[in-house]
Amino acid sequence: MALIFIGIFIMYIAIFVFSNNPILMSIAMIIGFLSVISSSLVYLWIGIKSTQTIHVNCPNCEKQTKILGRADACMHCDEPLTIDPNLEGKELDARYNRKNFQS
Ligand SMILES: [Zn+2]
Repeated sequence: MALIFIGIFIMYIAIFVFSNNPILMSIAMIIGFLSVISSSLVYLWIGIKSTQTIHVNCPNCEKQTKILGRADACMHCDEPLTIDPNLEGKELDARYNRKNFQS
């Protein structure tokens, strides 16, 4: 998060310090802008990583399937699967995700 503020700070400084030098001002503006963009991308990437599907082998049919979110059903045999130990052994609830899953 700090990088976003640093980027904004650099741009802010650039406007005041280099206001009499357009070239230096644009360079500082670009540096500030790039740090804002790169930090946004890092947070976007972390966001994508945390919602990524997890590939597992189904313990029931032993085919590879994927888990979306905290809990999901095997796409081959509808075996309830979870990555959350708190949900282990419990019935897969439609609340966790899956609009079309009814148990
Ligand atoms: Zn299965």
